[in-house]
Formats: sequence, C-alpha cells, structure tokens
Amino acid sequence: MKVSKAGAVAAVTVLVLTASGCGDDAADKPKLSIGVKFDQPGLGLREPGGRFSGFDVDVARYVAKELGYAPDRIEFKQVFSSDRELMLQYNEVEFVVASYSINEKRKAQVDFAGPYFVAHQDLLLRTSETGINKAEDLNSKTLCSVTGSTSAENVRTKLAPKAHVTEVGGYSECITALKESVLDAMTTDNAILAGYAAQNVNQGKFKLAGLSLSNEKYGIGVKKGDTELQTKINAALRKMVKDGSWEKFVKDNFGAANFKHEPAPEITEGR
Ligand code: GLU
Repeated sequence: MKVSKAGAVAAVTVLVLTASGCGDDAADKPKLSIGVKFDQPGLGLREPGGRFSGFDVDVARYVAKELGYAPDRIEFKQVFSSDRELMLQYNEVEFVVASYSINEKRKAQVDFAGPYFVAHQDLLLRTSETGINKAEDLNSKTLCSVTGSTSAENVRTKLAPKAHVTEVGGYSECITALKESVLDAMTTDNAILAGYAAQNVNQGKFKLAGLSLSNEKYGIGVKKGDTELQTKINAALRKMVKDGSWEKFVKDNFGAANFKHEPAPEITEGR
C-alpha cells in the first residue's frame, strides 16, 4: 500500500491529538450520564428518531449546562421507577431526573436536590368510564401502576387496599392495557397522566379523574453523601426558576396537555 507523505502526517497528527487529549472534539471529553425516563411524554421521552424531550429532559439539560456540560456531552440513560436508587448506587448515572418523588424511604438510600416540581397522584380513565369517581371506588376494580413507584404503594397501603393492582415496569404498558380494556384505570402523577392523554394517538380516549391523591415533590436524585453535587444542582435549580427557564419549560412541555401545574416549589433538600 502506498501512503502519501501528507496522508501519513495527517494520520500521525490525529493519533497525537487523540492520545494527548488535545482535540477539542466533544467526543474526547468525558460525558455526563443522566438518568431519565424514556417513555413518559411531556416529562422524559425518547422519540422515535432518538431525540429526547420533556420537562425533566429540559431540567436535566439546564442543570448539565450549569455544571459545564454542553448538550453533546450528555448521555441520557433509561431509568425505571424501580431501579433509580440502584442506578445511583452503582454509579451508572451521575444524577436522576425522572419524576422522582422525594420521600424518607428513598432518602435512606440516595440524596435529593430540589424539589423542582410538585405533582399529585391522580387516575387516568377511559373517556366512557362513569363508575370511578373517588379512590375508594377502586376497591372493586383492576388498576395498573408501576413497580417501585409511590403511586402503587399509596394504593396498596392507603387509597384502595382491596383494589386488584397490576404492576408493570413502565407507564406506557399501563396505557396499552387501559386502551384495550384489560383493566379499569391507571394511577400515577397527574403530570405523567396528562402527557399520555395529550398524545395525538390518544386524543379523545382518556380523561383524568381530577383527584389530588398525594403530593409528589420531584427531586433530582444524587448518590448518597454527594453534598457537593447536591449543592451545585440546587444552585442551578434556583437559577432556572429565577431566569424564567422553569416557566418556559413548563409551558413548552405541559402546554399541549392543558395541565394546571403548581408554582415552582421552595428548595428544601440540602443547601
Ligand atoms: N413520582 C412518583 C414516584 O417517584 C411516580 C412517578 C414515577 O414512578 O416515576 O414514584
């Protein structure tokens, strides 16, 4: 094989730049892994082309930028409701922005920054449903929720202990079952339910019951003991509200769902 002198010089230059880390290509720099949901429209969604969208995704990108990471240096990793603590404990992700409610049980395993959003548990019903108007009505019904979520636990322990609860891995599985009348209702945060109801493919099919069954304060999960990161993220969240980005993200992502949200909450975790 004949290699021109110019070609050889170029090849060597590339090698040297790569080895010394001098190339300013983003691929050379370390990435920031962030855990998000992949299947919650309006919150955390991996769209068919691979693009990510949603309120949590916008919040994650904002925080990343404040930490010095441009969008091309973010690696979004899928988290499920049941594995968020593990993903942090095993260093699979740096932080989690995934409709992740702050509570004492979780705080025994991870730390949170925030909260940055307040949602309430509600029910999603087929438009034709008339028999479910309050939580107790669920006691004779089949309900879908997600393993490891506060929604499933609330139903089991207080809202409707006699309900038959089908627990699945992600909320999109509940939607399919509800659409096909395999079950009577699904339950989780109103912000999540509104996102599904507003999807084009679901237009006219579902309604929210409009019940406020709990307070769900979304925090950004970090590894337990990482107070430095927790403090930095809190600073980013405060700035996000102050400079109007929070309001913009809410409008951009929940506007279509006509979802009435709570105002930005006071930060209570860490400093
Ligand atoms: N916010 C609730 C939770 O953290 C329900 C939503 C979810 O499962 O992500 O458990």
